[in-house]
Amino acid sequence: MSVPLRNPLRPLRFKNLANELNPRQLETSNLKPETIHMASLSDYKKKRRFNKTPEPGPEKKTSEFGNIFVVQKHRATQLHYDFRLEADGVLKSWAVPKGPPMDPKVKRLAMQVEDHPVDYADFEGVIPEGEYGGGTVMVWDYGVYAPENTNNVSRALAKGELKFTVLGKKLQGSFVLVRTRERQWLLMKHRDQYAKDGEDITETQPYSVLTKRTLAEIAEDEGGDVKKAATGDPKKLPPRRGIIRRKKSAKKKVWHSNKGAG
Ligand code: MN
Repeated sequence: MSVPLRNPLRPLRFKNLANELNPRQLETSNLKPETIHMASLSDYKKKRRFNKTPEPGPEKKTSEFGNIFVVQKHRATQLHYDFRLEADGVLKSWAVPKGPPMDPKVKRLAMQVEDHPVDYADFEGVIPEGEYGGGTVMVWDYGVYAPENTNNVSRALAKGELKFTVLGKKLQGSFVLVRTRERQWLLMKHRDQYAKDGEDITETQPYSVLTKRTLAEIAEDEGGDVKKAATGDPKKLPPRRGIIRRKKSAKKKVWHSNKGAG
């Protein structure tokens, strides 16, 4: 088994979030988890074998902000973007085949999937083929969010509509999730100063927000299927700076160290 049980890149993940983003730009005082008993990770737990997958275990917790969002690009059987919002000690999750839109004229199908643990938010790596969701996972965007016109995210979701504002590295401004039937929702961008008409942000900003890697590079670094992962990358890659690759020689040492990378 060449897949590490924890990603040595982990220490990079959220440690600078407080410096890079200003959560106080959003009103977060109404995000206290008042219904933390409602959410469950039992479906998440049932679908996975934690001695085979490097994904985090089914532990409920609140992030240091209490209101994070993350979008993970996932080249599984089909390419999709997992859109996740923290609520009640878990990440409420939707699989968005075409990814989140910044163009307010675009409606994107979003299939609600099982709640994920908050620790999942900084998971970037490879789920072994043959395991649930087998394939390469990239942290495509992260940040914080605030619900609009409500102080109860779970109640809004139960009613089938959640308006919210996100402050991410790529996604910004006001969005809405509307349920059309059962687990099927639509994700749409509201028209505001952040909207980008005619732009598909998944094409213009294809890299990991944590490491600037492509899916193929993540697969290569983490022992995944590089060819399969590459089919999820754009054919023409925009310029980039600051890419962080795993040093192959350092892999074992970093992996077994308790000190980590920072
Ligand atoms: Mn997925």
